[in-house]
Formats: sequence, C-alpha cells, structure tokens
Amino acid sequence: MDFEEKNNIPVGRFAPSPTGRMHLGNVYAALMSWLSVKSRGGRWVLRIEDLDTCRSKLEYAKLLEDDLIWLGLDWDEGGLENIGIHGPYMQSKRGEFYEEALAKLEALGLLYRCRCRRADILATQAPHQSDGRVVYSGRCRPLDRPPFPLMREGGAVRLYVPGEDIRFKDRYFGMQRVNLATHCGDFILRRADGAWAYQLAVVVDDAAMGITEVVRGCDLLLSAAQQIYLYRLLGLREPEFAHIPLICNARGIRLSKRDSSLSMDQLRKAYSPSQILGYLAGECGLCGKGAETSLEDLLELYSSFAMVGREKIMVDSVL
Ligand code: GLU
Repeated sequence: MDFEEKNNIPVGRFAPSPTGRMHLGNVYAALMSWLSVKSRGGRWVLRIEDLDTCRSKLEYAKLLEDDLIWLGLDWDEGGLENIGIHGPYMQSKRGEFYEEALAKLEALGLLYRCRCRRADILATQAPHQSDGRVVYSGRCRPLDRPPFPLMREGGAVRLYVPGEDIRFKDRYFGMQRVNLATHCGDFILRRADGAWAYQLAVVVDDAAMGITEVVRGCDLLLSAAQQIYLYRLLGLREPEFAHIPLICNARGIRLSKRDSSLSMDQLRKAYSPSQILGYLAGECGLCGKGAETSLEDLLELYSSFAMVGREKIMVDSVL
C-alpha cells in the first residue's frame, strides 16, 4: 500500500495523448484535476498516453509539459523525466504491465480472439446509432468459454462482457448504470497489430500509480463503466470518477486538437496564464466572469465550490 493510500492523501492525474498542441479543453481538464487534489493537499501525476504510435509525437509531449509549466500546473510525479517510483510514465514503455493484466484475464477464461475487420463490425450496426459508438455483435465470441491458452493465435483480443448493468457513482453526474452488452459489447483489449487498447492501459496504469480520483472530460463517462468492470475483474482498487463538462466551440462542437484557434500556441501569444485561468474559472462558475486569477486564489475558491454535472461549456473562438 502506498503512503498516500495509507494516509488518505488524494492522488489525481492528467493523462494527455501527445497527438497535438493542448487546447483550452485540455487545459480545463488539467486545471480541474489539479485543483481537486491540490486543494486537499494531494499529489498530481502526469502520464503521457502515447499508445497511438502513429499520431503521438515526443515533440508534442515536450510542448505539453512546457504549456503546463507556463500555466503553473506543476506535477509531483511522472512526465518525460519519469519523476517518481511508479514509472515509466509513458504508456508506450509500459507493455509488460499490460501483458500481466491480460494474462490474468486470460486465466479467468474471459478473453477470445476476434478476426472481424472494422467493416464487418460496422455492417452489424443498427442504422440509428449515430453517435459513432461501435457495439460489437459477438460474431467471434465462442459459445463456450475459450479453453486456456488461446493467446498465441492471431487477431484482436476481446473481453467477454456481462449482461447485467455496471453501477457506479460519478462525483458530478451521480449514480450511473451502464449495460456493457448494449453500450459496447465485448471490447478489445489488444488490437490485431499488437497495440494495447486505451481501456486496459488506463486501468492498469491508474491502479499501478495509486490514483485515487480520475477527473476528466465527460465524453469518457460511459467508458468509466468499462474501466470499472476491468478493475473488478483484476481485483484492483477503483478510483473515484469525476467527469467534467467538455469545452465546446460556439456551435456546441467539442474542441479538437485540429481546431487551432484555441490551441495553446495561439492562446500563449495573446493572453497571460492568469487571464486563461480566470476565463476558465469564470466559465465553470468558480469565480465571476472576466476576472484574472491565480492558482492560489483558485485553490481557495475551489474548497467551497460545488460543481454539478453538465455536458458542455461553450466558448467563443476568442477569449
Ligand atoms: N488520454 C486521454 C485523452 O487525452 C485521456 C484519458 C483519461 O483521462 O482517462 O483524451
């Protein structure tokens, strides 16, 4: 048991993917997670989620660190310099931990190989499913639990999901009930090309790094159910989940790393850290709109702040 766990010290994390320059939405997620632990004397971990080897770049990870430092959002552990005892802090270097978790799930007889191509999976989708979610039909699911071992054959590795609901409480959105069979179906833990899936890596890493709370955008609220299912199967301690609104443009569309107008590159040219922090704090109701503010002030305000779950914060292209 870690010192933090024994002494009830909150440990949060920021887990960006280095696939582009941070934008205002990423800064908001970092800020809310930082405030949540720092306002209670906790620790903050920076983990680089570079599993997507085609899109992740070391250059972006360096810029990301530079942007966090410029904002004053210091991490206690992690980052490219691997500060701390739970490293490495780049997911591309943590394959052995994921192997170990996969072997445990294999021993439980919960995995099978799937050779469906994406096109086959999409062909099984109901036409009304317009939110981009892909529910796997179970085409390759063996009728009986697979005989051990099966892992050396080719294809993606999928995990059986149960028919009953996963229940969990989100700090802002309250009680959630998610049926994984209808939400996503049996999901992939390792792709056919050997790449690790986010859902497995995030659980293994958050548990290994002693994370006690996960504060992140509410686009991942339903993914938390997949993650909780994995925590329970692997016998790991679940963190508290707290999903925050997504920062969207004036048309209500979530900011992406491809929109450059609210990227840190542009923001740093036009504004100071206290203006950016003040803007975000004003939009989420931590302080009045239009004020410049410091992290010290925000730490104080955050202690008495009661946020309620909402999905979006709309911003204009200029602050
Ligand atoms: N790496 C993910 C992202 O950059 C975040 C995952 C998480 O916070 O669980 O969107």
